Amino acid sequence: MGDLKIGLEIHGYLNMTNTKKLFCNCKIVHEAEPNTNICPICTSQPGSKPMLPNKEAVEKIIAVGLMLGCKINNKLLFQRKHYSWPDLPSGYQRTMSGSFGLPVGVNGDFLGIGIEEVHLEEDPARWDPLTGNVDYNRSGFPLVEIVTKPDFKSAEEVKHWLKTLLTTLSYIRAVDKKAGIKSDVNVSIAPRYVRTEVKNVNSISNIVKAINYEEQRQRREHKNIQQTRTYDDNSGETIFMRSKETAQDYMFIPEPDLPVIKVDEGLVKEIASKLPEKPSEKYKKYLCLGIDEVDAKTISSELVLAELFEKVIKEINPVFASRWFRRDVIAAINDNNMDYDDVNIDVSYLIDWFLLLEKKEVSPVVLKELLSKFIKENFNIKEYVKQHSLESVSDDLELKKLCQEAIKEKQAAVDDFKKGNEKALNAVVGQVMAKTKGKATPDKVNRIIKELIK
Ligand SMILES: [Zn+2]
Repeated sequence: MGDLKIGLEIHGYLNMTNTKKLFCNCKIVHEAEPNTNICPICTSQPGSKPMLPNKEAVEKIIAVGLMLGCKINNKLLFQRKHYSWPDLPSGYQRTMSGSFGLPVGVNGDFLGIGIEEVHLEEDPARWDPLTGNVDYNRSGFPLVEIVTKPDFKSAEEVKHWLKTLLTTLSYIRAVDKKAGIKSDVNVSIAPRYVRTEVKNVNSISNIVKAINYEEQRQRREHKNIQQTRTYDDNSGETIFMRSKETAQDYMFIPEPDLPVIKVDEGLVKEIASKLPEKPSEKYKKYLCLGIDEVDAKTISSELVLAELFEKVIKEINPVFASRWFRRDVIAAINDNNMDYDDVNIDVSYLIDWFLLLEKKEVSPVVLKELLSKFIKENFNIKEYVKQHSLESVSDDLELKKLCQEAIKEKQAAVDDFKKGNEKALNAVVGQVMAKTKGKATPDKVNRIIKELIK
């Protein structure tokens, strides 16, 4: 161990608000009837020329570069990367990487891992080798590629880093999460560090498996050569494809149909000024407020959640709020099968919910149910509580009467409790909670019952 070097080339689909392809006006739709979102440009018809690159795609990539600590180049250049494959009727892919590359971002650092470059390229079509059919719908989808330096030392390190990377990119909604990522994984071991590239590994768990397999294979086969391999999902093995291609094999030339794109310094500053805090920064900030590590990690993993939380803690104690946020706010969102982006609630009502909880004006059981309804429907929680008389039963006499009834009804549990089984009392408390329809405070019921059976 300690003699492993791993580098990644990560590809993801850009999440485009204008839903247009990179060099034409065709729509980006991931699940569509084959060949329904195409035109002469994205199918490379003779005589067709690309439109200027989609401005939003360029701006998104600049934002990605900035989030990863890159220097942003003031000139960008697309090149033609030539190769012959049925998914590429023109015989070349337009990309910013390669021999004459002027990528968007260079020399970054993200959590201690060097970022070689961040750039933009177009997706080729989808070829089905079994039928020979080609679907051009995805030809020209804008892709982000993030190339790291070979700074990773283990598969575990790659796993954690990738998870944080995806969370960070989700903060700027840069990558289409549903479409997932693909990565080329470079693995080499000491002393010769002969580079092997495993192409197109399609999930974090498969990336981990591919790295582990490669490490063992290279330790076993001493005469490793520079090569390109593929990962087989079924066997969990990597398989030899070809000896490694070089830049010369791709015959890069600058794309003659596109001008050099100038990136104005003002634009970079404007994009930088709109970037959110990174998840890692939020995490540290929460720890400084005294919030538990797990709570801080969970809340900072989703921007919607983090932003909501930060508004709530302007009025509510952060540590108190964080516990309920991590468990119950998330549970309420999940119960309704909602995406975080669909949560559209009035923060002042949510703050009311926390105040009711804090002052114990409504029992936690009732409040939890209410939260699940509120997250979906967004209503004035205080008024709802009044209208439906959901305030806690705090009238001691009434509660005492209900406790006495419950003790009679659950005599066996009371006897068990007296014999030393602490948990037996839960059945009696539960009986009272049911009688009040959850409107009593369990702590208080517990106390009264103990008084009564003393
Ligand atoms: Zn098109």
